[in-house]
Amino acid sequence: MRVELANHPLIAHKLTYLRDKRTDSPTFRRLAEELVTLLAYEATREVRVEPFHIETPVAPTTGIKLSSPKPLVVPILRAGLGMLEGMVRLLPSAEVGFLGMQRNEETLEAITYANRLPDDLSGRQCYVLDPMLATGGTLAMAIRYLAERGADDITAVTLLSAPEGIEAVERDLADLDIPITLVTGAIDERLNENGYIVPGLGDAGDRLYGVV
Ligand code: URA
Repeated sequence: MRVELANHPLIAHKLTYLRDKRTDSPTFRRLAEELVTLLAYEATREVRVEPFHIETPVAPTTGIKLSSPKPLVVPILRAGLGMLEGMVRLLPSAEVGFLGMQRNEETLEAITYANRLPDDLSGRQCYVLDPMLATGGTLAMAIRYLAERGADDITAVTLLSAPEGIEAVERDLADLDIPITLVTGAIDERLNENGYIVPGLGDAGDRLYGVV
């Protein structure tokens, strides 16, 4: 897996306010969206394009446009939903699929409870959205799920990642023979005994949607 740590002062600035426990849910949602748009710029560097002939008011020329099939954006419910707007702002023609995954708070294992995705993803580039790469169980499961349905290039976008989670995803997906990229806003210190990222930002779903 190729890991891209987005290195930009605006990303670091917005992440600092996102982490701050005094930040309320409306501000947290807005910051998460803005951050994802900045990360999406990095994440789409390899998006597939094809030549496109146009005429300007002055002369014919050839530019590029996104290839078909269009990329598929897959937010992992529930917290990934908070990243969707920021991503499709940059990729408005992308299709969107949904995967509902949750971790068992005792075993920390991921379970799938909802799936709204095309059955056949052959030749599709996919962008998986999940704000927190913690133990890595959910993300690895989501990526494998997409790869088994034919996706041939998968980029995960996370706001924060734990080193243990990155290692776990790399280990779990070592057998997959497709390009997999992680674009993340920060790699934090570690996971605590409850599976939370340290220093992290707490429970991303709760902070997005105001449940405490
Ligand atoms: N999920 C979260 O929302 N926060 C963490 O720190 C880890 C997993």
